[in-house]
Amino acid sequence: MSNPSLLILPGDGIGPEVMAEVRRVIDWYGDKRGLQFDVSEDLVGGAAYDKHGVPLSDETMEKAQEVDAVLLGAVGGPKYDDLDFSVKPERGLLRLRKEMDLYSNLRPAQCFDALADFSSLKRDVVAGLDIVIVRELTSGIYFGEPRGIITEGNERVGINTQRYTESEIERVARSAFELAKRRGNKVCSMEKANVMESGILWREVVQKIHDDEYPDVELSHMYADAGAMQLCRWPKQFDVIVTDNLFGDLLSDAAAMLTGSLGMLPSASLGAPMANGRPKALYEPVHGSAPDIAGQGKANPIACILSFAMALRYSFDLGDEAKRLEDAVEKVLADGVRTADLLGEEGVQPVTTSQMGDAILKAL
Ligand code: ATP
Ligand code: MG
Repeated sequence: MSNPSLLILPGDGIGPEVMAEVRRVIDWYGDKRGLQFDVSEDLVGGAAYDKHGVPLSDETMEKAQEVDAVLLGAVGGPKYDDLDFSVKPERGLLRLRKEMDLYSNLRPAQCFDALADFSSLKRDVVAGLDIVIVRELTSGIYFGEPRGIITEGNERVGINTQRYTESEIERVARSAFELAKRRGNKVCSMEKANVMESGILWREVVQKIHDDEYPDVELSHMYADAGAMQLCRWPKQFDVIVTDNLFGDLLSDAAAMLTGSLGMLPSASLGAPMANGRPKALYEPVHGSAPDIAGQGKANPIACILSFAMALRYSFDLGDEAKRLEDAVEKVLADGVRTADLLGEEGVQPVTTSQMGDAILKAL
């Protein structure tokens, strides 16, 4: 059997800096755990534009379609601000998401005990928090037609359309139930069925997928506004939350802030199952290219390293190895190792990106 394949796209800004630490982690798994990955590396975003005049070449797109998983750093930066919209770095990422049809966006909100005081909430509300928000990523109000700004009588009207087909709801619901089966076996679906037709259909379809295919997973429904309130009040009541594109956008950003720093948050975007039964997948840190600190060795590599841990779990079926990596991160944080973005306690000296990598390798 051939080795699992991984396409690495470091991208721009701090992307290459944090990805260098992931490469060391991957090498460690090869050396110490005998896990060999077929790793290839390519350009995306501004880096690809500089070389090819486009933010993602057709060859790279083809490669992304063939591998078991794509791991991306970050794209964009001030150097590219004046480029035409069609070749902006972000378009590289959008093309990947669209052509791989990555409809299910997983955003974990996990709070390592050592960082619980970073949260805007009280320590006991967030310490040990471990939930995942599954956001539908390819449909809903951001894409629905008709859309536009039209003139009606003597004033202008801005129009967007919230639109979901049954099959779009079914596939993201399945993705959430599959995820829940590997975790706490609990899904909460959020919509606004009280005021939106798309919400009524959403609730109906999620319930049907549950009853027909996942009766053993505990399912509840919540209106998204009440859900937002509950997420801030007592987030540990949730395991997996599944919701649409718009509500997921808001709820996942709110959930992110429960845990503190942007430099800590991984994500996965999953599509339809491939021949091997596992979904098409792209993993990336939630943070962007952070031009303000790029090139200074200050970036926190943990979000990108935890994104690789998600790849181990969801694309390579190596949940134990993913846990090993997450435990190493937890240990390093418990030992007080901090990059500059994690400083809070007095008298702690920040470490560099590569020193954080050193510490994680040592803990492994
Ligand atoms: P984008 O538009 O790509 O999302 P952004 O400007 O909105 O980019 P980021 O690039 O994520 O957001 O940066 C937001 C802030 O967080 C910046 O001050 C940045 O330095 C900081 N930051 C982001 N990621 C990290 C990281 N891995 N380590 C340390 N600081 C980070
Ligand atoms: Mg941003």
